[in-house]
Amino acid sequence: MLTSMTMRFETPSNPTFTPAERIAEINAAPGFGQFFADHMAIAEWNVRTGWGNDRIVPYGPLPMAPAGAVFHYAQEVFEGLKAYRHADGSVWLFRPEANARRFQSSGVRMALPEFPVEAFLTSVRNLVALEERWVPSSGEQSLYIRPFLMANESFLGVRPAQDVIYCCIVGPVGAYFEGGVRPVNIWVSNQYSRVANGGTGAAKCGGNYASSLLAQEVAYANGCSQVLFTDNSEHRFVEELGGMNFMMVTKGGELVTPDLNGNILPGITRDSLLKLAPQVGLTPVERPIRIAEVYAGVESGEIVELLACGTAAVITPLGALHNGDKVYRPANSEAPQGIALRNLLLDIQYGRVADPFGWTEKVD
Ligand SMILES: *Cc1c(COP(=O)(O)O)cnc(C)c1O
Repeated sequence: MLTSMTMRFETPSNPTFTPAERIAEINAAPGFGQFFADHMAIAEWNVRTGWGNDRIVPYGPLPMAPAGAVFHYAQEVFEGLKAYRHADGSVWLFRPEANARRFQSSGVRMALPEFPVEAFLTSVRNLVALEERWVPSSGEQSLYIRPFLMANESFLGVRPAQDVIYCCIVGPVGAYFEGGVRPVNIWVSNQYSRVANGGTGAAKCGGNYASSLLAQEVAYANGCSQVLFTDNSEHRFVEELGGMNFMMVTKGGELVTPDLNGNILPGITRDSLLKLAPQVGLTPVERPIRIAEVYAGVESGEIVELLACGTAAVITPLGALHNGDKVYRPANSEAPQGIALRNLLLDIQYGRVADPFGWTEKVD
């Protein structure tokens, strides 16, 4: 395999944009994942020539091989990060190298070629800079960035694809859950699993989401909006939600989350909150959590807050866990300590307080 040439993702010389009034109209209420900016970044990989043909083009349908393994065997990974507008109008990314590295490790698990960290960062920086006008500026709004990598070889046989496409799209988003931060009800899945030991739980891949959707429907049917998955073999240990990591706050002031055991996605929000916990008086703890311990702790008052975290929703309080007909409500279902942590992270992301870890990066 050849070493790839440096990818520049140069911006087109005569880009055209949606009229400013229409962008303002969309950005007034963008929702989540419904609107996309005018351009996207693309690059292509071939087993013989490596990465190349990097470019920024108008947003639109991709040329895809119908026989490509992404459609049949789900050979695909993705990322999700955001660009935030600060009060002075400048636009900032949050820990983009962490996403770039996770993109690589997810890709390795799915037998996809490594996408260079520098190429990831260049594509994101250049695309966000080009689409700066799409970065909304009010409340909890941001520009959501979705890089993805997928098989694109015309071949139905089962082996890693020899042609792969990288793409990055961006679009304005508001708060993930409509109506702002409200405790959500959670369905504990004792039936379906999203990942398995030795499987793809630590990779950010579409297949993990596909396998979570039926459990999600069961949750909806039971008046819940998200699923908490437990380990696939015995359903005894807490893993995470379909797209968010799980955390809880104890009476003794610990912020506890399952350790990264290979079945849990290493969330960047999770990692950031563990590092920020001491600033709000919480001690971070990573260890296996038994679901029985959660039920008992919520009932006894030992566990006071239940939380879910991820880039899209930041931190969301979990108002109740539904285990079949049994409902467990934490004492502080509004999660004041979780909200304090949430506000601290948002203050860093929106530049309202100092960034002690050097996590934010200005886009010029
Ligand atoms: C993306 C994702 C998360 C959250 O990761 P962040 O880096 O915090 O956005 C958690 N769980 C799953 C399954 C995910 O795909």
